[in-house]
Amino acid sequence: MSAPSSFCLADNNSRVQELLPLEAQLQRALNSAATSARSFTEELLIVSEALPREHANALISYLGERYLPASGALINTGAPAAAGEAHPGATRTLPELFALLSHATMSYAALLEAALRLFDLPLREVAWKHQTDYSALLYPVADLLAPAVAAELANNRWECHCECPMCSIGLCGCIAVGQMEAVAALLRPDQELDSGPGFLIQQPRRGSQLTELHVAAGDMLLSIDGESVNDVAQIQTAIRKHDIGQTMQLVLIHNGAQRELTVTHVHDYQS
Ligand SMILES: [Zn+2]
Ligand SMILES: [Zn+2]
Repeated sequence: MSAPSSFCLADNNSRVQELLPLEAQLQRALNSAATSARSFTEELLIVSEALPREHANALISYLGERYLPASGALINTGAPAAAGEAHPGATRTLPELFALLSHATMSYAALLEAALRLFDLPLREVAWKHQTDYSALLYPVADLLAPAVAAELANNRWECHCECPMCSIGLCGCIAVGQMEAVAALLRPDQELDSGPGFLIQQPRRGSQLTELHVAAGDMLLSIDGESVNDVAQIQTAIRKHDIGQTMQLVLIHNGAQRELTVTHVHDYQS
């Protein structure tokens, strides 16, 4: 969009027209993510219920009688893809949805700016609402990216071979770190990550201690040696209080019941 030397309301019409295809694209991307990320049905349901289907209509009603639909498809508010249809993996569809949400957030911010400049009250209302709606969806989708990678790795029977203390006992922290970084990248500098209590365990590495002890994906690690642990940094620190070969006590929740395990610190990066 070039910066015009003068502003008029007609420019806002064309800005709004330009956003209509983006709304249709968002609906398609959401459907495609919902089809491919089957393991995350519940989480995507939250996104899909929050993804406002009335946005396109709000744009059309702003345009009013000036709106002339382009020939061909208008707004597809989302027939799901046919069952059994080939679909790309969640690690492709979720980033696409994420990129479109970011694009929509920025586009409506620009539209809001134009509306403010021209004192275009109806557009100001629409642009502000749509911008906040889409920016609110960035977080839940970013939260899904790392678990989607983990699920695809597990489905393809690939596993982490990181040599850090956690991954060495089968308690991979790599995905959790990736997820934390993806979400942290979206935070304002004055916001903080709230990791919540405990650490959600991914499928332990084959042959690792946790696998031998029948720890499963979805178990929640609560403490090491009596100290609560909530994130990767705390867990690595707790393990590194021991020399290689020393044991420690883990407390975790498995199928709703508390379990206590003894594991040995077996490995760390070569120094
Ligand atoms: Zn590691
Ligand atoms: Zn790992």
